[in-house]
Amino acid sequence: MNIADSEEMAAHLLARGYMPTENLDEADLALINTCTVRDHAEHRALSFLGRLRKWKRENPKRIIIFAGCAAQRLGEKLKKTFPYLDLVSGAKEIDRFAELLDNSALFIPSGTQENKPQSSITGYVTIMRGCDFECSYCIVPSVRGPVQCLPSAEILKNAAQKAAQGYKEIVLLGQTVNAWKEEGKTFADLLNEVSSIEGVERVRFVSPHPIFITNDFLKAVENNPKIARHIHLPVQSGSTKVLQEMKRGYSREILLEKLDALKKRGFAISTDIIVGFPTETEADFQETLSLVERVHFSAAYCFKYSPRQGTPAAEMTLFPEKILEERLDILLNKVKGLAESAYRAQLGKPVQILMETPNKGRTSDNFWAQTQKEYPIGSVVNTEVVSVEDTLLLTRD
Ligand code: SF4
Repeated sequence: MNIADSEEMAAHLLARGYMPTENLDEADLALINTCTVRDHAEHRALSFLGRLRKWKRENPKRIIIFAGCAAQRLGEKLKKTFPYLDLVSGAKEIDRFAELLDNSALFIPSGTQENKPQSSITGYVTIMRGCDFECSYCIVPSVRGPVQCLPSAEILKNAAQKAAQGYKEIVLLGQTVNAWKEEGKTFADLLNEVSSIEGVERVRFVSPHPIFITNDFLKAVENNPKIARHIHLPVQSGSTKVLQEMKRGYSREILLEKLDALKKRGFAISTDIIVGFPTETEADFQETLSLVERVHFSAAYCFKYSPRQGTPAAEMTLFPEKILEERLDILLNKVKGLAESAYRAQLGKPVQILMETPNKGRTSDNFWAQTQKEYPIGSVVNTEVVSVEDTLLLTRD
């Protein structure tokens, strides 16, 4: 979502004559789009902002904008610590970013620059903002607010624009993306409509929530090969007790049911897992390990529980760091090699590759694959996996 939000804010700067640069020394403006989901992410953004003090001192006409979730959480008080900061634009204000720029007294050069896509293959389309869940460890609902689904007409228009710009893969974005709905239309209907736009070869979505893996969605997948067979589905824990305390809205049993249904339909599943939630017993932790063994995820991103000020879980007593480290190590050992074995399991399978370079691309289940011949970027190649090298599929074509 941050990539999409950054693109949206950058488009407003391009429309005002700015051009992107990799070199901070030649920049007139720095826009820092931030994440606050973990303490560490926020610290990194603030420390970068601190380092810009010297950059601004060198040329006081330079402009610094601090945007996104950390900006939403910390607000105008940031200006007390960083008086050289010109503009704070919170995550909830993304739709008003152009207005904020125009109402500020900042120096804005005139003219328009061409909006060049970052990737010629993947275009991001936001379909909803905010979250209606109240997971006890999560700060997102308080910084992003409740769910607001964008109208399907607007989403389809945005997706069609991306397709017309040459994007072949559309990624639909939302905090609980598969909770999207509008009068008479479900997320599954939306997936079908986006995939039928001329030029769209594949549709992905980030980040889904397990409870919205519905029969309606599964049916849409069965009938529509353009819906990618990879899902990043954060499970967070394998213990019903911990899931309840996290207020995730599902039990281990429901989770396994959903995961099995996805596997049956050929999905590669990656996930996020938190270890050391304050009430996690050794038995709970073992349940997470057994879930990992049973599901064979294609990748798992594992995190030590990190309290976020203002969330209910932040009031709970933390585990000693040593236990957190030990559990994380055990889990990391368990998930080590998941990607390699997921790649090995593709041997002999037919695959459809969306080419991102003349001889490499991603399969529908999100594995990197290399073809023998060269093909136009953006074309779709149907072939078969003949061998596997670490995390690369080699194909017969
Ligand atoms: S579903 Fe839970 S973890 Fe995900 S954004 Fe919403 S509150 Fe946070």
